[in-house]
Amino acid sequence: MLVNVTIAAEDKRFLEHHGVDWLRTIRSTLGYFGGSSRVQGGSTITQQVIKNLTGNDEVTPERKVQEIFTALKLEKNFSKEQIMETYLNIAFFSNQCYGIQSASKLYFNKDISELNVAEAATLIAITNAPTKYNPLRMNANEDYGWGTGMEENKERRDYILEEMYKLQMLTQSEYQKWLDYDVQLAPRKDVESTSDGLTALTDWHTDQVIEDVVTDLQQEYNYTRAYATKMVYSGGCRIYSTMDPDVQKSLEESYANPATFPDLANAEYPQTAAIVIAPDGSVKGMIGGNEKTSNRLFNRATQSQRHPGSTMKPISAYLNAFERDLITWSTTFIDEPLTLTENGKTFQWPQNYTNTYTKAPMTVQYAVQQSINTVPAQLVNILTPQVCYDTLKNKFQVSTLHELDATSLSSMALGGMTTGMTLEELTGCYQIFVTGGKYVKPYTYTHVTDTEGNIILKKDTTQVRVVSEETATVLNRLLQTVVTQGTGARANMKNETGITTAGKTGSSTGVKYVNGVQVDIDNPDLWFIGFTPYYIGGVWMGYDIQEEISYYTYPTPILWKNLMLPIHQNLEAKDFEYSENVQAMQYCTESGDLATENCPSTATGWYKETYIPSTCILHRGGSTVDTELEDENDENEDSSSSNHSNSSGGSKRPSLNRNDKTNKKDDDDEDSFWNSVSGLFGSKRQ
Ligand SMILES: [Zn+2]
Repeated sequence: MLVNVTIAAEDKRFLEHHGVDWLRTIRSTLGYFGGSSRVQGGSTITQQVIKNLTGNDEVTPERKVQEIFTALKLEKNFSKEQIMETYLNIAFFSNQCYGIQSASKLYFNKDISELNVAEAATLIAITNAPTKYNPLRMNANEDYGWGTGMEENKERRDYILEEMYKLQMLTQSEYQKWLDYDVQLAPRKDVESTSDGLTALTDWHTDQVIEDVVTDLQQEYNYTRAYATKMVYSGGCRIYSTMDPDVQKSLEESYANPATFPDLANAEYPQTAAIVIAPDGSVKGMIGGNEKTSNRLFNRATQSQRHPGSTMKPISAYLNAFERDLITWSTTFIDEPLTLTENGKTFQWPQNYTNTYTKAPMTVQYAVQQSINTVPAQLVNILTPQVCYDTLKNKFQVSTLHELDATSLSSMALGGMTTGMTLEELTGCYQIFVTGGKYVKPYTYTHVTDTEGNIILKKDTTQVRVVSEETATVLNRLLQTVVTQGTGARANMKNETGITTAGKTGSSTGVKYVNGVQVDIDNPDLWFIGFTPYYIGGVWMGYDIQEEISYYTYPTPILWKNLMLPIHQNLEAKDFEYSENVQAMQYCTESGDLATENCPSTATGWYKETYIPSTCILHRGGSTVDTELEDENDENEDSSSSNHSNSSGGSKRPSLNRNDKTNKKDDDDEDSFWNSVSGLFGSKRQ
C-alpha cells in the first residue's frame, strides 16, 4: 500500500512538471492570499490551507491540520506539497467548482498538466475572490468592480505574472509573452462533464439544496465551508430534496418562452426571480435569474435582499391588527397621512402610490385591495413597529431584519426595511393564509444521510401556529379581493382553472447614484406574492443595480400568472379551507358597520365571531331622517371639496363622518373621527 501511495505521488509530481511547472506557478501565487507579500518557506501556504479549511488563521497550523486530516481519515504527516495539493483540491474556483482539476476542466477543458502559465494564473486568480474573478461572469456589478469577470480576472492574472517575474520564475521575455497571451476559455458546449458531474448544469433548486445542506452541515457539525462542500460533492451523503421536478421543469419552460415576460418600457429587461412553495413549506421549484449559464450563480430568489414594499402589509400591519381584534373587514380609517416629527421637523407621511389622499373614510378591505399606504401606516402607528417586528422575527423567523426595523414605521408598515427580504422568506410567510395560520420556514430538503443510510441532517418540518385560523381566514378572503377587483387582478386564474386565487402586489422606492449624487427612484422592485389551495408562489422583478422599472401595465401579477397557470393547468378546481368561526355579513360601505335595510350601499364582509361590528347608525331609523342626513352630507362634501384639490374628483365614498349625526363641525371632522378611532385603541395620534 505504501508503494502505491508513493507511486501515485511520484506520478502526480511527474504530471505537475510536465510542460509547465504549475505547482511552482501556484506556489508563487499562494503567498498573496492572506496579504503576506513573499511566499518562500511555505508557512504562508500552510496558513492559507488552514485558513481555507477552517476559516481561522489564528490556530496553530500544525495542530489544526492534524485535526482536519484525521477527520478526513487521511494520514497524519504531510509535506508542504501535500498540503498545497490538498489546498488546490479543495479551493473554490467559482461556478460550483472545487479543486484545480475540476476548474481546469470547466474553464479550459484541459487536464491541469496541459495548462500554460497564463491559463494557470487565470485559475489561481479566481480563488482570490471567486465571484469577482469568475471568468464566466458577464454582468458588471459595482460590488465586484465594473468589469466583467474575465476583465477583472485579467487584472489579477497580470498581477500574478508580474510577481512571478519579480521572483525570477519568469524571464523578461516569458513575462511579456504570457502578459500578451490571449486566454481563451473553452466553449461551453465543448466542456466535458467530469466524473463527479461538477460541470453539468444543474437547476436553481438543486443549487440551493447544495447551498442549504452545506450551510446546515457547517452549523450542525462546526465544519468549515470548504469541508462541508467537499462532503456534499464527494458523494459522501445522500440528499432528499423537496423539489417537484414537474414544477421546476414547468418554471424553466416558461422562462424559455419570451411570451412569459410582460412588456416593459425599459430598454433592457430587468432580472426576475420566482419561487413555488407547497402549503407544507417545502420549496417545489425556483428560478434565481433570467438565465442560468453556470452553477451556483447569484440566486435572486434566495440571496437577494430587496424592499418588500406593500407585500409586507398582510404579514405585518394587517396580520397583527386582525389578530388583536383591532379592526374588522370594514373598519374605516380616514385616508390621510400621519403627522410625524423627526429631529424637530414636522412632516406628513406616507404618500399613497397615487400621490393623492381621498381624505375620506375608507374600509380596511378597500385599503388592502387598492394597496393604500395611509391605513397600514396608521395601524402600525397604533400597534407600534416593535409588535410587527417581533412577529416577523420570532414567528416567521425572518433572517434579514435589522434592529433599526423594530422602531421604523416605514419598515414595518410599508416594507421599507433597512436591508430587505429574500423572495424565499417573503413567499414563505404567505403560507399561513393557506394553512389556516400555521407556518414553517421554507425548506429545500427534508433530510440527508451518509452512504450507510444514517441520518446526518434532518429538517424540522413541523408547522407552528403564527395566527389564529380565524385571522388567517379573514386575511385570505381579503387578499382574494386584490385579485378579484384590485391591484392584482391580472393574476387571477379562477376563470381558467376554477381554482381560487389570492395575493398581494408590492413595489418599493429606492435611490441610485448619478455622478455620485443620490437620486430617488420609483419601482426598483416589483413583487407579486400569490397563493392558491395548491401552492404559494412569489415573483420579483428588478435590476441588480437599482434602476426604475417603467411599465404600462403592472407587470408582476402577469408574470406570476404566466408562471403559475401551467403549474395549475391540470389540477382540480378547488377553494381554500376556511375557519367555521368566520362568517359572511352585509356591511354598510359608508359607515363600515353592519348594514341595515336602510343603508344605500352594502357589500359582503367576513367577520371573526370575536369582533362583529355594531349596526350602522348612519342609516338607522326612518327614511325621512336618512334623506335629510344624506343631503347634509352631500353639502358637506361639496363645500369642502375645494379644500381637497388633490382628492380624486368624484370620490367613490361620500365623505361621511360618524360625528355628523350629533355634532357637525366642519373643521374638526377628520380629527374627531380619528379621536374616536384612536380612543378605541387607547392610543393617540401624534
Ligand atoms: Zn349604513
